[in-house]
Amino acid sequence: MAKKMILVDGSKCTGCKACSAACKEWNDLPTEKTSLVKSYQSMADFTPNTYTYVTFEEKYENNNMHWLMRKAQCFHCDDPSCLKACSSSAISKTDSGFVVIDQDKCIGCGYCAQFCPFNVPKVDKTTEKANKCTGCVGRVENGLEPACVKICQPGALSFGNYDTMMGIAQARLAEVKKKFPNANLYGQNGQAGTTYRYILLDTPAAYGLPENPSTDLTLYLWKDIIRPIGKIAIGGAAAAVVVGVAINALKGNYKNDSHQDQHPIKREEEM
Ligand code: SF4
Ligand code: SF4
Repeated sequence: MAKKMILVDGSKCTGCKACSAACKEWNDLPTEKTSLVKSYQSMADFTPNTYTYVTFEEKYENNNMHWLMRKAQCFHCDDPSCLKACSSSAISKTDSGFVVIDQDKCIGCGYCAQFCPFNVPKVDKTTEKANKCTGCVGRVENGLEPACVKICQPGALSFGNYDTMMGIAQARLAEVKKKFPNANLYGQNGQAGTTYRYILLDTPAAYGLPENPSTDLTLYLWKDIIRPIGKIAIGGAAAAVVVGVAINALKGNYKNDSHQDQHPIKREEEM
């Protein structure tokens, strides 16, 4: 299947949250208690049962306020840090561009969550499985658009083949820039590009996004250097202990990490 792209046009989003509701419906996810955590934002973060939500930033200029709204979900990176970090080869990328977690293979180690530059995957403590947006890959591979795209009434979400969508995105960006000079197309820099791309009305920082998301260097050190050497040198369980100690020392891990409870170091021997 040809590579796909989803364009999230921040100039058209009304913040209605229908995309989030459609995601729940299609993926059969339970509802969760919400509250206004910031402006009209009703979720603080992803959860194992919330794959997409809308962020709201209030921007004040010349005594006027306008919202910077963003539908957040997994970006479906072309070079996914989560895939590289996965300890059980449970994560794969489809030809169409979506990054999926095989629930049968996932052991809930939480390394995907730890190394995703956007903190997307969440480990369900009950099932001990990592969850995130699937890109509705089952719909896509049957000729349908993802559920969020299908529901979006103002046309803030659009879906199609990559080349076509990039043309649409560039043309739309030129229009949006006339009113929002800082507007930019987000998702081109870092992670080798992403399947979900955004027309942001302001800088990535204004939305709380990294300018150049990248895979943490410690992951390369761990997977490509320390781990192979450790296995050759001492083998088996001892290597696993060394690897675990090394990666956590390199990363300065588990000190102030809000995701601490999501990645218990377990089954290191499988890495
Ligand atoms: S459904 Fe469309 S307009 Fe509504 S919040 Fe989602 S992206 Fe924005
Ligand atoms: S956004 Fe995070 S979870 Fe999604 S593909 Fe990229 S690295 Fe993986």
